[in-house]
Amino acid sequence: MKVVVATHNAHKVAELQRILGVALPELELLPYDGPAPVEDADSFAGNALIKARAAAAHTGMPAIADDSGVSVDALAGAPGVDSAHYSGERDDTANLRLVLTNLGDEPNRAAQFTCAAALVDPREGVAFEHVELGVWPGTIALEPAGVGGFGYDPIFIPEGLSVTSAEISADEKNAISHRGRAFAALARVLADRYGAA
Ligand code: IMP
Repeated sequence: MKVVVATHNAHKVAELQRILGVALPELELLPYDGPAPVEDADSFAGNALIKARAAAAHTGMPAIADDSGVSVDALAGAPGVDSAHYSGERDDTANLRLVLTNLGDEPNRAAQFTCAAALVDPREGVAFEHVELGVWPGTIALEPAGVGGFGYDPIFIPEGLSVTSAEISADEKNAISHRGRAFAALARVLADRYGAA
């Protein structure tokens, strides 16, 4: 079966193919090349649905999308849905530096990554819409460490580990991350609906 992925990021299509391919070997993910919608919802789920709806409407095919970010307890949940451009720019280093600056020596460093994974299937009278949330709890490190991953990985220490998520392999990360959890749950929904497991 074919599903459109509402992202212009080829890396994300490949990553989702790896995560979903375990449960759905028949699944073929297609990149979406239509117009990008404005992501102006105030929740990860809302923004994931905006992206999936746009790709489904443009292609007439089932579409999946995700929206994700890190929420720091002592910063009242920031960066949250503004994770990609917290510093005012799409600059991973500037963004994570701003989190460290804003946290200072705050002892409560609890944080979590959240990923909302949405499926929209427009091929019915009323479009089918479903969202799964994956949460990955941890803490914010005092200093960046590691060169793997992207975004806030160098400052995120997952619960149960003593290294950052930039210091573990991509496969290790996919097995336990917010995105891995959200899409593992969405894979079960896809398998139920399309019987492609
Ligand atoms: P989006 O889901 O593509 O909008 O990305 C949101 C932003 O959240 C990214 O640009 C990163 O800054 C951050 N983010 C989301 N997931 C991760 C992750 O797995 N590691 C590190 N940063 C992440």
